[in-house]
Amino acid sequence: MRVVVVGYGMAGARLAGELHARDADMKITVLGAEAHRAYNRILLSSLLAGKMSESDVALAEIAGHGLDVRPGVTVSAIDRADRTVRTAAGEAIEYDHLVLATGSRALVPPLPGLDPTRLPERVAVFRTLDDCRRILRTATGARTAVVLGGGLLGLEAARGLAGRGLDVQVVHAVGHLMERQLDPGASAVLVRTLADLGITAHLDTTAASVAADDAGVTLHSADGREWRADLLVVACGVRPETSLAQAAGLAVERGIVVDDRLRTSDRRISAIGDCAQHDGAVGGLVAPAWEQARVVAQVIAGGDPLTRYRPLPTVTRLKAAGIDLAAMGDPAPADPAYEELSFTDPARGTYARLVIDGDRLAGAILLGDNPAVGTVIQLFDRGGPVPADRRTLLLGRAAGVPAAAPAGTPALMPDAATVCQCNTVTKGALVRCWRAGARSVDEMIAATHATTGCGTCRDAVDGILDWLHAADTPEVARR
Ligand SMILES: Cc1cc2nc3c(=O)[nH]c(=O)nc-3n(C[C@H](O)[C@H](O)[C@H](O)COP(=O)(O)OP(=O)(O)OC[C@H]3O[C@@H](n4cnc5c(N)ncnc54)[C@H](O)[C@@H]3O)c2cc1C
Repeated sequence: MRVVVVGYGMAGARLAGELHARDADMKITVLGAEAHRAYNRILLSSLLAGKMSESDVALAEIAGHGLDVRPGVTVSAIDRADRTVRTAAGEAIEYDHLVLATGSRALVPPLPGLDPTRLPERVAVFRTLDDCRRILRTATGARTAVVLGGGLLGLEAARGLAGRGLDVQVVHAVGHLMERQLDPGASAVLVRTLADLGITAHLDTTAASVAADDAGVTLHSADGREWRADLLVVACGVRPETSLAQAAGLAVERGIVVDDRLRTSDRRISAIGDCAQHDGAVGGLVAPAWEQARVVAQVIAGGDPLTRYRPLPTVTRLKAAGIDLAAMGDPAPADPAYEELSFTDPARGTYARLVIDGDRLAGAILLGDNPAVGTVIQLFDRGGPVPADRRTLLLGRAAGVPAAAPAGTPALMPDAATVCQCNTVTKGALVRCWRAGARSVDEMIAATHATTGCGTCRDAVDGILDWLHAADTPEVARR
């Protein structure tokens, strides 16, 4: 069996490891357009913010018998009749099964002065390690930056640059920030929090053109305003990279259309990660990409014939120092039957909103310090019933009542609680690792991949391990 994986990003790298672990004799070729070994794209925000180095964000090298990993190799065509892929250098590589893991590319809006194939010197998108290097190069010695786009990525870039001492203006076309995850109330509090951190948000502002010269870059808005800065970061969203699939005649809508077994319209070709469209939805987060890698590895290696990809609810967290933000589900559902509760304290930078369907959480936004955030995420993940006194979730504690069941206390966490969102690792899975002999965080990570995504669960995994060590008795280890 010869498997060729196109794309050596987060999904492609994980898939190669999953395949190799299942069948050490499989011949696996991974072709990646980026010149370096795969890295944790999520952590580029931490690299930009100066919290991590390039070596911190590199993913573990995949190597072994039968594995041929080739960074710096772009695939330019697929010949489905001959079952070969052709590289940009003209090499033809045969496959028995082909997996497309080509990810997304940054969207550059069609504005005068912005040619996506040749961005001006002081303008950068924020998708790859090379983009990040370019931003950091330009930010060195700079005093001001404009970020076009107030979505998750734009705000993480803005926070990173502000943390480096730049005065940052965020220009956003919509009336509120992160409109896919937040409602206007949360955005209003976030605008204030950002202002305290040296970031000014301009909402409802349509960009009209960009003019760049050696000394700086100017963004003009449709209503006649302009912002001059040393650096412009364009963070206007991403588009699934489907050009190869489209040229090969595969079914493509917004992404490459796949079924529950991640097969495209050609049964010898699968697609996973940001480039794939499953059940009408395209990705954009690492948890589904890694789950798809696991499922497709099982399908190709001939494991469980019933294995199917089932999307799980996703939680979005902003990785920006000084801003605690978690959003999940639909923040503003149209159904009037839903119960909606919110609490705002702009002066303290706090906003909470719960959307409840019957006694289940359908969505939530928690901005600012809220001790119940772990509990809320667990309830959302598991579809557990919300407490009768909603204040325990909304405020973290009700008057005269102790804080909501502290999700961080391992003893009180149910086994089904998801600890690592990116890798869908539950407390129960970590306890099973312990029972199987894992005694260090590294051993737990090796067995489950926990903490290897955004890394925000590291404290929780440490806490569970400490709890297991402290309660090192057969009774507790069996819980
Ligand atoms: C700054 C930043 C922060 C993020 N934060 C989060 C977060 O907090 N949580 C979260 O869940 N997600 C986050 N994401 C999104 C996450 O990184 C993606 O969902 C994830 O990388 C998808 O993995 P992928 O392998 O599908 O795509 P990618 O990681 O983009 O990898 C695709 C690879 O395929 C290569 N490729 C494309 N075409 C070809 C070709 N023709 N030949 C060879 N190679 C090709 C590309 O060069 C790329 O290396 C973030 C993204 C960015 C940029």
